[in-house]
Amino acid sequence: MRNQNFIDRDKLYGMLDNNAPSESQLNDILNKARKLKGLNLEDVAKLLCVENEADIQKILDTAEYCKDEIYGRRLVLFAPIYTGNACVNNCVYCGFRRDNKALKRKILTLDEIETETLHLLRMGHKRALLICGESPRNDANYMVEAIRRCYAAKDEKGSTIRRINVELAPMSVEDYAKLKAERIGTYVCFQETYDPIEYAKFHPAGTPKADYLYRLTCMDRAQEGGINDVGIGVLFGLVDYRFEILALMEHARHLEEDYGCGPHTVSFPRIEPAEGTPFSLPENIPHPVSDKDFMKIIAIIRIAMPYTGIIISTRERPEMRDKLVKYGVSQISAASETNPGGYDEEGDNTAAKPYEKTGTTGAQFTLGDHRSLDEVISMMIDGGYIPSFCTGCYRKGRVGADFMDLAKPGLIKEFCKPNAMFTFREYLEDYASPETKAKGLELLKKLTQTFSKEELKKRVEGNLCKIGEGERDLYF
Ligand code: SF4
Repeated sequence: MRNQNFIDRDKLYGMLDNNAPSESQLNDILNKARKLKGLNLEDVAKLLCVENEADIQKILDTAEYCKDEIYGRRLVLFAPIYTGNACVNNCVYCGFRRDNKALKRKILTLDEIETETLHLLRMGHKRALLICGESPRNDANYMVEAIRRCYAAKDEKGSTIRRINVELAPMSVEDYAKLKAERIGTYVCFQETYDPIEYAKFHPAGTPKADYLYRLTCMDRAQEGGINDVGIGVLFGLVDYRFEILALMEHARHLEEDYGCGPHTVSFPRIEPAEGTPFSLPENIPHPVSDKDFMKIIAIIRIAMPYTGIIISTRERPEMRDKLVKYGVSQISAASETNPGGYDEEGDNTAAKPYEKTGTTGAQFTLGDHRSLDEVISMMIDGGYIPSFCTGCYRKGRVGADFMDLAKPGLIKEFCKPNAMFTFREYLEDYASPETKAKGLELLKKLTQTFSKEELKKRVEGNLCKIGEGERDLYF
């Protein structure tokens, strides 16, 4: 284990002096960002102090430029599967906390995990995030079986989940190695807050999660267990968001310096009221982040870490999600349920109900976006975005430092755009409503004309044609 505590609380708070950059300083930072090589901690601290509307718009415009240069119009879609809501912790903001006695606890059986997976597949999803509370009932051995059952599920069209990411409590190096052996994609764990003093208030003593340092070093143990594809994040709303952004930068720097590769993704959950918690009312949230500030910080991370994926969930309302996608978000969850067995409750009524309703929603937090996958995709098409279910890089071994080596010179566009189009075509053929299919095919036709290299254009057209004729799972 290397550097144990890479967060210097006093230094980070000390950098937030509320002095916005001068016009020339701001322009210098934004011009540097346009070179797509990222920003340093000092640059980011200055941007975080920008409050003036016109200057914030300059940051947003720069983020839009960077997003477009690197990611184009692609947007990756996934959905979570909550495998359990039992939890030994008592985090004050979470509906799964152990003091929430109104919540009926549930750990899905393997058959129920298969049922949930089938619901996702029948919507058209190809990427799943397995997630649960922290409990000995869903330890690493349980997760190994859960991953296997999720990968094994196949719907009537022969579709399977092609990439499983996991969001799990910190564990030992040995347990990380077990997950790695099951072909997981990204291992995700949020620090919740990087402020060690405030952390103690939100995570009561006597619970495993009270150990700030054990959580802070989880990605180091994941690396030692062989997992080099990791996702970090904080729960915005617990402390000053500006501190959290600087701390995220420091975490990314630590991973890059010590393991040769920064985080694959950064997630941006904002606290939402959760039933059965002290934060069940919006006015109880300690440091709410306004929509304006939320857009600003996503834009800042986009230009500071241009090659890192940015994820938002269905916590956010549709109008907000559509704006955030423009300024930096590259992955979104869609049509999510955040209680174990939730898809089966909402889905077709032919399968047995695995979970008795309790009068509470049983969800970890309140959802802001209730649209179906088809509705989300339809709106993405209207906005000119390419919905992507692509898992090509991960399955070709382009992960961790290899992914970054490819991404940094911009070469990833050569793979990502065609692969996104192939998975989009599959979705249109197999799962889309007739209206979505019609306009999606139109979009694909236009996109095919945007390849300047004739040979690439021909290969893309060839694969799209094969998918239309029934071939599946084609990727570069
Ligand atoms: S945030 Fe995670 S650890 Fe905390 S109570 Fe909720 S499920 Fe448990």
